[in-house]
Parts: sequence; C-alpha cells; structure tokens
Amino acid sequence: MSLLGVESPPTSQVRNLIVDLCRQFYAKGWASGTGGGISIRHEDRIFMAPSGVQKERIRPEDIFVLDLNGEVVERALNPGLKVSDCKPLFMHAFNLRGAGAVLHSHSMNAMLASWLFGTHFRISNHEMQKGIAGTGAFDTLEVPIIPNTPHEHQLSDSIEQALNDNPKTQAVLVRGHGAYIWGKDWAQAKTQAECYDYLFEAAVRERQLGLDPLKLKGGQ
Ligand code: ZN
Repeated sequence: MSLLGVESPPTSQVRNLIVDLCRQFYAKGWASGTGGGISIRHEDRIFMAPSGVQKERIRPEDIFVLDLNGEVVERALNPGLKVSDCKPLFMHAFNLRGAGAVLHSHSMNAMLASWLFGTHFRISNHEMQKGIAGTGAFDTLEVPIIPNTPHEHQLSDSIEQALNDNPKTQAVLVRGHGAYIWGKDWAQAKTQAECYDYLFEAAVRERQLGLDPLKLKGGQ
C-alpha cells in the first residue's frame, strides 16, 4: 500500500500525517469544536484520532492504533484519552468499501446541504463532480442523507444501511451534522472530500440565487 508516495512508511509517518490533515481540516472549518477528523488504514492497522479533543492540537502520540476488527492494539500515550466516537462508522467504510482512509467533516457546507434534500443530495452539470470516482461532469451525483442521532456511534446502523443501499456512493451526509467521506487511500479521501464540499457549497449557493442545482445546463 502506498502512503506519501513511498512504499510502507514507518507508522510514525502515518501518525504525523493524521496530525497534519487534522490541522488542515480545522483550518477549512471541517473539524472545529472538536468535531470531525480522519482515520487511515496502513497495512493491517487502522490509525484513529481520540474522541472529543481539539483536532488542530492532536499530537502523534495521541493517535490510537486498531486491528482490522476495530480492537485497540495501541492506546494513546495520555490515559485520559479514548478512541474516536466515530469508530464504528469509520469501520463500516473500511470493511464494506475497502477504504484506505475515512474522513468525518463538520463542514457548514455539508450541514446546510443536508437540509436542502429529502433522502438524497443530488447535483449535476458541475465540473468538480469529476473528482468523485466513477462520476462525470454531466452525471447526476447522489449522496444518501441519514437522520442525526444524539450520539455519534448511534449512527452506525443507518450508515451501514446507506452503504448497502447506495453501492456507488463515496460519502454519506448526516442531516444537520456533516458528512462521512472515504477513498482508497488518504489522498483520494481528501480529494473527494474537497470536491464534495465544493458541490455541497455550490448547491446551497445556487439555491440562494434561485437556481436549481439539478437543472443547470452547461456544455451539453
Ligand atoms: Zn460528528
């Protein structure tokens, strides 16, 4: 498996990568208020941030290491930390989709877009759709929307159902909350998250302009 463009980096690089990505996601407004984060699979291990901490201040030693069954095999150095409450949700993308990385975003764009549609976010005729695997600019891109729950781990069953019911999707929106987005590796998960976020924002802004993001025509 390739991470950082080289084969089999030491696990310290995976820890540092999560720290870097969490800072970037915080700067984008995807991981503020301790929400959001990213989990990365490396060989037969899964690296995951702790729960309820300031994501822009995570240190490499704060990362938990799990096996492919989701059992913690290496705890964070600080005994007061516990593994991310998103664990069962991340594990569905690893197990059901063979994901190499899963990202959780509390983006304002994702949250607002989740209120615009019923069961599925839908958009077409946007160039940035090409950043989502298997999607062309003139296709209709769909993202399932599931209801929120009082606690993050309680989303587990509905995320699993959404993955089974929507075999093409690379993301799930949680209404009034944010999104889960994955990819075959961390780079694709990040790229897809950026494209989805652009499309979520586009739909919200187009609605504000009185446009229907599903009925725009461009180049066809
Ligand atoms: Zn969340």
